[in-house]
Amino acid sequence: MTFPWAIKQLVSRAVPHQDNEKRKGPEKYPDWASYRLGIFICLNCSGTHRNLPEVSRVKSIRLDFWDDDLVEYMKCIGNNAAKAIYEKDVPIFYYRPKSSDCVVLKEQWIRAKYERREFTGDKSQPQIISNYGSHQGFLWKRGKENSQFLRRKFILSMDDYTLKYYNKEESKGPKAVIFVKDLNALFQPEKIRHNHGLQLTCLKDEHTRNIFVYHEEAKEIVHWYNAIRAVRFSYLKTAFPTATDLELLPWITRNYLKQGYMEKTGPMHREPFKKRWFVLDSQERRLLYFKCPLDATEKGSVFIGSKEHGYDVTNSLPKGARGNKWKCGITVVTPDRKFVFTCENERDLREWIEALNGVITRPMSPQDYTTEANVRRRR
Ligand SMILES: [Zn+2]
Repeated sequence: MTFPWAIKQLVSRAVPHQDNEKRKGPEKYPDWASYRLGIFICLNCSGTHRNLPEVSRVKSIRLDFWDDDLVEYMKCIGNNAAKAIYEKDVPIFYYRPKSSDCVVLKEQWIRAKYERREFTGDKSQPQIISNYGSHQGFLWKRGKENSQFLRRKFILSMDDYTLKYYNKEESKGPKAVIFVKDLNALFQPEKIRHNHGLQLTCLKDEHTRNIFVYHEEAKEIVHWYNAIRAVRFSYLKTAFPTATDLELLPWITRNYLKQGYMEKTGPMHREPFKKRWFVLDSQERRLLYFKCPLDATEKGSVFIGSKEHGYDVTNSLPKGARGNKWKCGITVVTPDRKFVFTCENERDLREWIEALNGVITRPMSPQDYTTEANVRRRR
């Protein structure tokens, strides 16, 4: 038995959590509650909470029975009060997942917050922030030439802002030294085909270098991610001393605006189309293409400037185009040349155009002019 008035009261207290502002309708108001923590949660998060019976107990707001005492309890806590306790002391660099993020990030956020109580500011807890300064350990790294994952030692250092990895014997020195300045980290579970798959990217001689890793333990791979963010944030603060923390936040790590297959032709637009894997790095203003999604280095890249500087994107295919399997054409106009791509379907086409327009309509920063010059020089 449920009392409609009680449910009404509960629903009115169910403030949106995480980044629900983008959602519409009923999704905006979580339908589930942890009656132990006194918080309202969405269906997705309720699954994780169910796995933490020691700290959280889940009920549906609409389907389960709520007695008066429990309703009162929910009323006097609620998400804002719980946030003040459990998110009292979240390090600024620490990644707060969005609803679109991968499972491992969302699940570990809930565990860090409620199960491990990492952000309550409780001094008896181990000092979380100092743990993030530097980090080392083993990760499974995908081979550059083959698809085999091998166990490799990685060392992240705040002292010289580097991430190093070693092939076998540490004494022989690192196989690679990656500068945190050029380092990005993003979870790519589907591409890597592992729930904890993390993509690391850096620049080597103006080319992108992709490194694909994972760790068996969810907690550990998310720790790596946040450790990289901590070191990146520290680096950015030294590199841009006048910028505020909030201004630096989006630059710590970044996700791709869009990625997927398109076909591409050559500069004459008469060359045979080839299927390539594209990623749009919005902050770097680069459209990179690879032969395969897990390639270590890109085959090429297109700088995406702004409208004022002669860049444009249209859904059109030049008349002479031929040999394309896919029919939905995109033309990217740059001051040097037009790039012609084709998409598999209309939806993909719309998404690419929207993503590219997102970059083109954004004004260029002084740093972008340097990137543009580098990309042009290389071609
Ligand atoms: Zn949720």
